[in-house]
Amino acid sequence: MSDENPIVAVAKRVLMNNYRQAPVVMDRGFGCQLWDREGHRYLDMTAGVAVCVLGHADAGLAHAISEQANRLIHTSNLYYVENQVRLADALINRGFPGRAFFCNSGAEANEAALKLARRYQVTTSKKPNRLEIIAFENSFHGRTIGALSVTGQAKYREGFGPLFGPVRFLPFGDVEAVRSAVTTETCAVIVEPVQAEGGIHLPPPGYLQELRRRCTETGTVLIFDEVQTGVGRTGSFYAFEKERVLPDVISLAKGLGGGVPIGAILANEEVSRGFEPGTHASTFGGNPFATAAALYVQDAIDRLGLLERCREAGAYLANSLTRLAERRRPRTRGARGRGLLQGLVLDGDATPVVTKARERGLLISAVGGNVIRLVPALVVGKAEIDEAIEILDAVLADV
Ligand SMILES: *Cc1c(COP(=O)(O)O)cnc(C)c1O
Repeated sequence: MSDENPIVAVAKRVLMNNYRQAPVVMDRGFGCQLWDREGHRYLDMTAGVAVCVLGHADAGLAHAISEQANRLIHTSNLYYVENQVRLADALINRGFPGRAFFCNSGAEANEAALKLARRYQVTTSKKPNRLEIIAFENSFHGRTIGALSVTGQAKYREGFGPLFGPVRFLPFGDVEAVRSAVTTETCAVIVEPVQAEGGIHLPPPGYLQELRRRCTETGTVLIFDEVQTGVGRTGSFYAFEKERVLPDVISLAKGLGGGVPIGAILANEEVSRGFEPGTHASTFGGNPFATAAALYVQDAIDRLGLLERCREAGAYLANSLTRLAERRRPRTRGARGRGLLQGLVLDGDATPVVTKARERGLLISAVGGNVIRLVPALVVGKAEIDEAIEILDAVLADV
């Protein structure tokens, strides 16, 4: 039995009790498949929480990082790092004119974005009272104190106050709320172009454009948290492309290094003036190893046509989920998402479905309480999507 797994037994003694982990120890992977220590095979529709965009054990990525490790892993930002410069250039050329700063995770990227926005407003625009950050109900921006402070879900914030502020939360999708809350006193607005952890909520058409218009009118810094939606997840490299909105700052992480930890922010020329030498830093940020991984991912996205494949596979997955939702009413309420960020909405708690699916060899996760999230690698095939739907169907028929 999995509970007798010796690794799990030791974990329960030596690890902090902050995760709810399934009693499974993964051993190896290939593409969208994983095998645990006992040899069970799983079809992986989590991709390490929207991280492993090239799938598991991609030979090219493994080669790129082992080559880099043999030459140089880390030197710090005391000196220029060639891979970091090339990566910044690549990310800018994807359609965000500006400058990059590199760090190691999504939360850290959002910390950098908030610090940049504040410093831009209080020093560059000489308005020391422009402090308020506007964020949204149901948002998720990470677990560090700054990122947590703009996360609009009470369950994550409880017991950690006083947090960074002032922060005000608006309902996501309400244009009138934006018009009255965003003023010339607002420092920044931070928003996910698609709310992911909160339950896969898409913005109403034109909403993000309205947000852009109001931020421009008031001189407010508009930050898009593209930690989950970026790097092709929604079918364009950045989610803002589809919305036809250019934010002032974006944060990236998750898929950026294909599994190697790396985060980044991009900011336009004007706002990036908020950082001067000494104002922000990261020891590991943009090191040769992590940026070698990210450069390989950049190259693979184009070489394998992953943006187009994501749009195609995403449409196929969305269709399959919609049909499944119709078949399994009233247990299901529908499906929603964009690209390969898809959710199946249930009529109640999604956790038992996640557990049952895992027992049948399908890995999925629950978000927003009652939503099953599917965020497979961008290389996922139709046969794998069919297999996932088949297992989900059987589980829903059962529970
Ligand atoms: C995952 C996530 C984060 C946090 O990223 P970490 O790397 O876990 O710190 C922030 N924002 C969004 C939208 C995310 O999905």
